[in-house]
Amino acid sequence: MSEEKLSIEELGEFGLISHLTEKFKDKREETIRSIGDDAAVIGKGKIKTVVSTDMLVEGVHFDLSYVPLKHLGYKAVVVNVSDIYAMNAEPKQITVSIAVSSKFPLEALEELYEGIHRACEVYNVDLIGGDTSTSLSGLTISITAIGEAEEPKIVYRNTAQDGDLLICSGDYGGAYMGLQLLEREKQVFKAAPTAQPKLDGNDYVLERQLKPEARKDIIKQLAEIEVVPTSMIDVSDGLASEIFHIATQSDLGCQIYEDKIPIDEATYNLARDFNLDPTVCALNGGEDYELLLTVSQTDFDKFKNNPFFSIIGHMTDKPSGVNMVIKDRSVVPLKAQGWNHMNKEA
Ligand code: ADP
Ligand code: MG
Repeated sequence: MSEEKLSIEELGEFGLISHLTEKFKDKREETIRSIGDDAAVIGKGKIKTVVSTDMLVEGVHFDLSYVPLKHLGYKAVVVNVSDIYAMNAEPKQITVSIAVSSKFPLEALEELYEGIHRACEVYNVDLIGGDTSTSLSGLTISITAIGEAEEPKIVYRNTAQDGDLLICSGDYGGAYMGLQLLEREKQVFKAAPTAQPKLDGNDYVLERQLKPEARKDIIKQLAEIEVVPTSMIDVSDGLASEIFHIATQSDLGCQIYEDKIPIDEATYNLARDFNLDPTVCALNGGEDYELLLTVSQTDFDKFKNNPFFSIIGHMTDKPSGVNMVIKDRSVVPLKAQGWNHMNKEA
């Protein structure tokens, strides 16, 4: 296929990024790590600055018919500081840029900023700037998070070693099930606007979707047990997709165990109610904002009964591929079908 005929759709999100940026070579001595990780790493001294940007677009990342603006503001900060924690760094400042129609109610924007303010308190970051523009179609929020870490403690995605343990925080699939629930009730409401949404008893998954937290506590825990992971990534696009990022970028394979993937009971039961496979929801759902890391096997004792973590597998050599041992003990290749917003299925 000739290059001119390539479409954005065919390239996919990551193909598009590398296609557009392949000509860019770092020129500055201060650019330690540029494109390709959760955050860029820059600076000259021992203490490095880490920088990450994420954008939330109405109709793509959020639906204002059921997402409270305050939660949206909070989540917009969370998704950014999560990328800073994924470098084992501490977020310190954010900038916030918005594009919004002048017809948008002022009170709604105030609520958005209340959520942003709350998150700035919780994550101890300062709002130091941004940009404001009018928009012709919907609300867009773009946040840049800036953090700091000492050079030897910064953790990248591409430095896992063969034989390392693959470990994750939290549990998976909850945010996805929360979204399924909200979407279902939206459809019910469209058909019968007087119907009351049936959301009772689903607080956990709704909270996972609407008000996620970034795992600042995990970074603290790692410092307490004196472990610097060999690699780390935050789980925004789905556990499977992030496992692939670590394996591929570290030039390794990996083996995970289906029965070790942590899934909350509420998530599990709701997935079953929706006739969905809970494992598929956990692997491909996305928006969990947990941390996925690898550590040397010599650190096994620090993780084996640690309530903050689940050991879900180990890294292998590249030719072995990325595989999952399923519940009947057979081995199947893992598929990454993360939230690719450029994808037709998204
Ligand atoms: P994450 O999921 O951790 O937020 P992304 O998947 O969004 O990371 O991005 C992967 C890498 O590509 C990051 O290093 C990001 O900074 C970079 N990137 C994304 N979009 C662009 C772009 N339009 N131009 C340059 N770099 C980009
Ligand atoms: Mg990330």
